[in-house]
Amino acid sequence: ATQEAALSSERRPGTDVSKADIISCEPATGAEIWRGKPCEINEVVTRARQAWPGWAAQPLANRMELVRRFANEVRKEADTLARTIAREVGKPLWEANAEVESVINKVEVSIRSYAERTSQRKLDSALQGTMAVRHKPHGVLVVLGPFNYPAHLPNSHIIPALIAGNVVIFKPSEKAPASGEILIRCFHRAGIASSVVQLAVGGPEEGQAFVAHEGVDGILFTGSANTGLAINRRLATRPDKVVALEMGGNNPIVVWDTPKLTDAAAIVVQSAFATAGQRCTAARRLIVRDTLYDALMVEVKALADRLIVGAPFDDPAPFMGPVIDNAAADGLTESFLYLLSNGGRAIKHLVRPDESLPFLSPAIIDTTAMADRPDVELFGPILQVIKVGDFDGAIAEANNTRFGLAASLVGGTPQEYNRFWANVRAGIVNWNRPTTGPSHAAPMGGIGLSGNHRPTGYYAADYCAYPVASGEMEQPRAMIGVGLK
Ligand code: NAD
Repeated sequence: ATQEAALSSERRPGTDVSKADIISCEPATGAEIWRGKPCEINEVVTRARQAWPGWAAQPLANRMELVRRFANEVRKEADTLARTIAREVGKPLWEANAEVESVINKVEVSIRSYAERTSQRKLDSALQGTMAVRHKPHGVLVVLGPFNYPAHLPNSHIIPALIAGNVVIFKPSEKAPASGEILIRCFHRAGIASSVVQLAVGGPEEGQAFVAHEGVDGILFTGSANTGLAINRRLATRPDKVVALEMGGNNPIVVWDTPKLTDAAAIVVQSAFATAGQRCTAARRLIVRDTLYDALMVEVKALADRLIVGAPFDDPAPFMGPVIDNAAADGLTESFLYLLSNGGRAIKHLVRPDESLPFLSPAIIDTTAMADRPDVELFGPILQVIKVGDFDGAIAEANNTRFGLAASLVGGTPQEYNRFWANVRAGIVNWNRPTTGPSHAAPMGGIGLSGNHRPTGYYAADYCAYPVASGEMEQPRAMIGVGLK
């Protein structure tokens, strides 16, 4: 209780008292979990700029040691962090525990990835001396976090950025400041100065101010496509700033011939409804061969009917919790009704048992007959089903989106998977695996409206440092061999 009370302090250093409070509420109960003032942007950026040279000058081994200590601090706080994530964004406790594990695992993965992707390399040549390739940090990087993985996803930017020698300003989602606060506390307890990695609470307004700030060298963003586009537009004339955009998806899962329909159905349900559909990689569209349609849909519906929707700490544990807030639940309900009234056929209705809370049941709707399916990300537990006759049609349907994050084929022959892999447009292409649950040891990003070709995950090292090529010789040596009078 003491730790939880410590989460909501009235006044933090670097906060602007004239602005309205940021208030974070538990989706499952509506109770307030955190309240505080938004940060004061100039103060935060100035502190970061002052801290950067010292941090960048530290030997790499020190920075690595400090992030390893961070992992130990997270281990000590694992229970508090997991319970706070579960309360603040409504995900089941077992899932919040898994998120905390990902935070810890990120450290060793990032150390490996730094060494492999951005370490120093030397190419020796008798004529040119040594050609060295080394990497330098950008400077002050701002991490703008989403609500759905309020610790793991920002951390996926923060750790590689710190290892590479950047200082970090982390602005958590305004819907998840309590989780962000514990994360950043672990960095400080590990011995990383509070100016090297700062918590900067705020909403879209503060996000915009950081994006526009002259003292910021880059924006590492995970969130919706609309926000990502706004950031991209704002920085269109600033090629000097590094911008990594990890955005949403309208992800397809294609089910083709397979003798294992029950397993296929489980992969579909996991892809569509894990985290109440609030994952960037969640399957939004199930594209299914007409000959399998009836049998598959019986299995998918039966399994979806069995999913327990409940509060994070319920016993027995729920499969999924509520969506993030009532506004999100209202929007999803409206979207479902829109699909229904424009040619969609409900296979499983979206049900909201209590209008005052954002718990939604998993919903399935056949949109095959819709003339014009909106290509938007419905960030919740709604799965659209589209029936197709042949494999080319399935691929065309999978690509019928401006997004391109994750795509899965379930069933099919190796030849069909090869065709799918070659032709489907997405940054994550899986076979007989869910669209969700990307590996830390692999790049994680999308094309189209899903990203700007700066994947995070294992490749985050690439956008946290820039390469410098240096031709180097111990002594000057005359070089002009021809063309002299
Ligand atoms: P969001 O875009 O609403 O907010 C993300 C962050 O941007 C928040 O910190 C917010 O305060 C800030 N922000 C909002 N408007 C801004 C602006 N104009 N300028 C600068 N900053 C601004 O996203 P969300 O609802 O918190 O997260 C869910 C979205 O994130 C979904 O679309 C999901 O698909 C996506 N997501 C993507 C990935 C990925 O790796 N590709 C992972 C998780 C979530």
